[in-house]
Amino acid sequence: MIPAPALPHVLGLDCLVCGQRYDPGEVEYVCPDHGPVGTLDVAYDYEQVAARLGTAPRRPASMWDYRPLLPVGPDAVAPPLAVGGTPLYAAPRLAATAGVRELWVKDEGVQPSGSLKDRASALAVVKASERRADRVTTASTGNAAAALSGVCASVGMPNVIFVPESAPEAKVAQLLAYGSLVLLVEGSYDQAVDLSMEAAARFGWYNRNTGFNPYMTEGKKTVILEIHDQLRERAPDAVVVSVGDGCIIGALHKGLRDLAALGGIRHMPKLIGVQAEGSPFLAEAWARGEDVLSKAPVPAATVADSISAALPRDRVKAMRAVVDTRGAFVTVTDDEILAAIPALARGSGVFAEPAAAAAYAGLLAARRQGHVGPEDRVVVLATGSGLKDVPAAMRAVAASGERPARIPPDADALAAVLGAAGS
Ligand SMILES: *Cc1c(COP(=O)(O)O)cnc(C)c1O
Ligand SMILES: [Zn+2]
Repeated sequence: MIPAPALPHVLGLDCLVCGQRYDPGEVEYVCPDHGPVGTLDVAYDYEQVAARLGTAPRRPASMWDYRPLLPVGPDAVAPPLAVGGTPLYAAPRLAATAGVRELWVKDEGVQPSGSLKDRASALAVVKASERRADRVTTASTGNAAAALSGVCASVGMPNVIFVPESAPEAKVAQLLAYGSLVLLVEGSYDQAVDLSMEAAARFGWYNRNTGFNPYMTEGKKTVILEIHDQLRERAPDAVVVSVGDGCIIGALHKGLRDLAALGGIRHMPKLIGVQAEGSPFLAEAWARGEDVLSKAPVPAATVADSISAALPRDRVKAMRAVVDTRGAFVTVTDDEILAAIPALARGSGVFAEPAAAAAYAGLLAARRQGHVGPEDRVVVLATGSGLKDVPAAMRAVAASGERPARIPPDADALAAVLGAAGS
């Protein structure tokens, strides 16, 4: 690979641990003094950004509408897949149920590969091309892999995906359909990550791993930039999102800080991070005031596989996001997560996978605990499509007791069933 080119609007990459600023061409991915925990934050020259971004109101059609606020040059070619520009739906019935003034649902399930991860992968592919990498790699069992695999397929970029051998066959099939080289690692998810990192270093592949590659936050932050433009003067008081590795919530915070620096927002919304009770690392650290760098991993098991993380890789950014915005972390049980799937679907028309529905379950918990108030205008991020995990949706409806009525193909029988159901 060639070094990353200098970009006039990027001032540097700041280490989150020591604050040291580096040139983009000078470091590979993390602070050389702090290794993998020394994740970097991209610093912009906001005067240049403001001049290029303009002040005209936008109806975002894709994440590339925010190109002046992304770490790419003006000539960078965006992948052809339509990433970003997702809908934000008003959900007044859910607002009434949850007991908040307004509720909006941002539907990331309509992204090309079905989750918010496409925003990061699209940027990874642009950065990899910029550095003339001949391959991109990541380790993941789920949505990050599918996103990288799909965006790579759209531009014909070779990619290598490391998955633990326990990965669900359906997810592996999607990667194979997209044409990725898929390696089933005989070991845990963490060992798959380590091998992917080692391979990137040894063979000179571009490394997309979350919590390591500083640009993934930049891609994901476009979701909050879109929300800002979609809501304008009705800016939210709270944004609720589920948290696994912590990259998305860190990205929301980054986008909000960018908007504040550009004079776009007057007050920061509270960021509410939702974790599964079975994967509570950050919620636990926040409640107990623990240091996330020295805290030991907390074994993780939850139905919401996309937020199962024993040691969240972006824990520094995630904790800072909640503390700086005076938000909160809450936990929800697997039963609450499953119940949230039909609740969100019926109340808004958005069909979400467990990790995405968890955000709605988390709003109910945050409202009960007083982190969100009755006068608040709230955005819930639906981070991934319900079609990602159909077995979980089947469990959820079975648990809710709903089942189809069986009838003979006969209109009188139909009328009898409708009469019995009171409709
Ligand atoms: C990745 C993911 C999350 C959690 O994002 P983190 O950055 O790991 O905290 C939540 N929901 C879905 C659907 C995801 O794919
Ligand atoms: Zn450092």
